[in-house]
Amino acid sequence: MLANSLVELDRAHLIHPVASWRGHEAAGVRVLASGKGATVTDATGRTLVDGFAGLWCVNAGYGQETIVEAAARQMRQLPYATGYFSLGSEPAIRLAARLAELAPGDLDHVYFTLGGSDAVDSTVRFVRFYQQARGKPEKDQFISVAQGYHGSSTVGAGLTALPAFHAGFGVPLDWQHKIPSHDVYRNPVGQDASAIIAASRDQFLAKIGEVGGADRVAAFYVEPIQGSGGVLVPPAGWMASMRQLCADLDILFVADEVITGFGRTGPMFACADEGIVPDLMTVAKGLTSGYVPMGAVLMSDRVYQVIADGAGRAAVGHGYTYSAHPVSAAVAMAVLDLYEGGLLDNGRLMGERLLTGLRGLADHPLVGDVRGRGMLAAIELVTDKIARTPLPAAAAPAQRIFERAWDNGLVIRAFPTGVLGYAPPLCCTADDIDAIIERTRKTLDQTLEDPDVR
Ligand code: PMP
Repeated sequence: MLANSLVELDRAHLIHPVASWRGHEAAGVRVLASGKGATVTDATGRTLVDGFAGLWCVNAGYGQETIVEAAARQMRQLPYATGYFSLGSEPAIRLAARLAELAPGDLDHVYFTLGGSDAVDSTVRFVRFYQQARGKPEKDQFISVAQGYHGSSTVGAGLTALPAFHAGFGVPLDWQHKIPSHDVYRNPVGQDASAIIAASRDQFLAKIGEVGGADRVAAFYVEPIQGSGGVLVPPAGWMASMRQLCADLDILFVADEVITGFGRTGPMFACADEGIVPDLMTVAKGLTSGYVPMGAVLMSDRVYQVIADGAGRAAVGHGYTYSAHPVSAAVAMAVLDLYEGGLLDNGRLMGERLLTGLRGLADHPLVGDVRGRGMLAAIELVTDKIARTPLPAAAAPAQRIFERAWDNGLVIRAFPTGVLGYAPPLCCTADDIDAIIERTRKTLDQTLEDPDVR
């Protein structure tokens, strides 16, 4: 009864992010009621393994009491303090110092936001301010990567390269440009790492030429692993090579670690995998494990000093009411304690089990590719393995795969391209991972019967 009335209220009043509004009206909401460890329970009482950690964010898993306690303690003591002007709070200061310590290289300065989109937005403002402050205002063009995702603000959605985020919204803006994805499975140059790296470098140089030369280009945005584009893992060396190219050309390198940060790929930050230090890094999601909203921009000392000198005594006019929110910061500190207290280690172990299990599905007639790193993985479904024929591009088969998995007790992300995404909580047990694999196989077997994918 309760669930039914919620479905009606939802249909009438709640607009859902990234959903077909009409499709949602027809299908109705699935209400999640509680969570424990790596599982969630819906309003009908069914418990499912959350193979996607909410929205690749609940890295610490559900029901972590130390996080709840940290939030309650901070709310009782001081629920809000602005970071504006020169005010602050202890948790925010301690968190900034801790992130600077954990982050690679000289990413020593931290600007807090509410999530990933406004972290990306903030970097765009900082990059522009930086280029102006050093006397290069003509460096105002931005380049990102096809199939990349950098949030849903007007500016970020233009750096994002997924059609649904552009159509009808008047983006990308005319200073936002893309190079093709490194996509290993479907790269026109084949799967050889050095060929893909060489192609990306050539494409980057060609794009720079098109926009008027390196003197016009402010920054290059990349995800260490492209998430929303379908969990596309670049070949080893790709990030390092593009990072070096940017350094050589005096173009800022911005690593968007909103998904990959905080143990998702193994280390605390994915940039560590390739030993690179970006000029700016965006984080969110795993920072608070989704318990409360928070994101951050980590800024290199070099960029920080230029902006600080450029502004001098004037304010750098960029801020949110909830920047450096003390409750979010207290939560993040408790979350980091869990990561450093064993969750990252467990995530690395379970990540191996996940990838091994998914690779075991490669013999399935629908599985064209298995890829991933750590607790971030995907399988790409095809109707013909030799020709690598994608599933029909309509959303319907993907939606039906999601629904079948749900009915089998598994939450996954089913991308419209026929890619199934996995990003389970780092606290998963071996049984959780085995359930993910077994329920995926069952879902694939059922999908073989779907007339749209045959
Ligand atoms: N960047 C990346 C790489 C992301 O994956 C996301 C969210 N999926 C964002 C930015 C935007 O973050 P948010 O949804 O917290 O605004």
